[in-house]
Amino acid sequence: MQLTGKTAVITGGAKGIGSACVRALHAEGASIAILDVEDYGSELAAGLGERVIFIHCDVSRESDVSAAMAEVNDRLGGPDILVNNAGIQRYTTVTETTEEEWDLVMNVNLKSAFLCAKHAIPHMQARGAGVVVNISSVQAFISQKTVAPYVTSKTALLGLTRSIAVDYGPQIRCVAVCPGTIDTPMLRDAIQLSPDPEAVYQECMDMHLVKRIGTPEEVAALVLLVAGPQGGFFTGQAIRIDGGLGVTIAGSKRED
Ligand code: NAP
Repeated sequence: MQLTGKTAVITGGAKGIGSACVRALHAEGASIAILDVEDYGSELAAGLGERVIFIHCDVSRESDVSAAMAEVNDRLGGPDILVNNAGIQRYTTVTETTEEEWDLVMNVNLKSAFLCAKHAIPHMQARGAGVVVNISSVQAFISQKTVAPYVTSKTALLGLTRSIAVDYGPQIRCVAVCPGTIDTPMLRDAIQLSPDPEAVYQECMDMHLVKRIGTPEEVAALVLLVAGPQGGFFTGQAIRIDGGLGVTIAGSKRED
């Protein structure tokens, strides 16, 4: 039980990678606050028991975030660990993107991490230590077509990660975790946009060197490592967990 006595806030914790982080950190003894707009988070919290609370919170709104962090402090103490995981995807190019779409993606994927860190770090400082984990993406390093706002937001998260690590170290560490394709509701919804979802799913598997898609549990295991006592030497860095995605040169046909 690596996290007994610790409190973790996990944004977007109702589903996908977030819910896997909830289960993984809870299994190691942490008290958990799930911050999400999906009310399913309350069922997840109830199923896990008394050390887990759900707070309905739009993490892109400062009033929601400041109230949620105060509630976490009152009910659970802390937070000691913040996992900025909530995110959305929109498939669009720069010329197709409306100002509203751009702002929405930036607000949910990037501004939320700033706001949650802003309102969590003072509680961490009061306790003398803390860890912020920002869930970025392998798309902070490599890209594909029609994901301009998403790629921009995920790349900017790496800058935020460095800033937090530099400004608040050594007491507070900050790490970015950058997954490749992970089997979550976000991925399944994205694939359904295609006329041939099965072919897209196969393509997603094939583009990783390990020839499969990652699981939320694999990402959660990395989050547990960097946030826990064995992760004390990780800070300011982006860590890829991507099955080798992007390691090969696109278009290379040579097999030997
Ligand atoms: P997911 O299955 O869609 O789960 C994300 C959760 O965040 C959902 O419950 C979602 O609610 C919630 N959320 C969205 N906007 C929110 C807001 N404003 N305030 C609070 N909660 C909000 O996504 P996932 O695939 O697990 O992705 C989690 C993170 O990993 C994201 O940051 C994503 O960009 C990143 N990531 C995912 C992959 C992948 O392949 N899945 C790869 C790399 C990085 P709604 O469902 O109502 O929107």
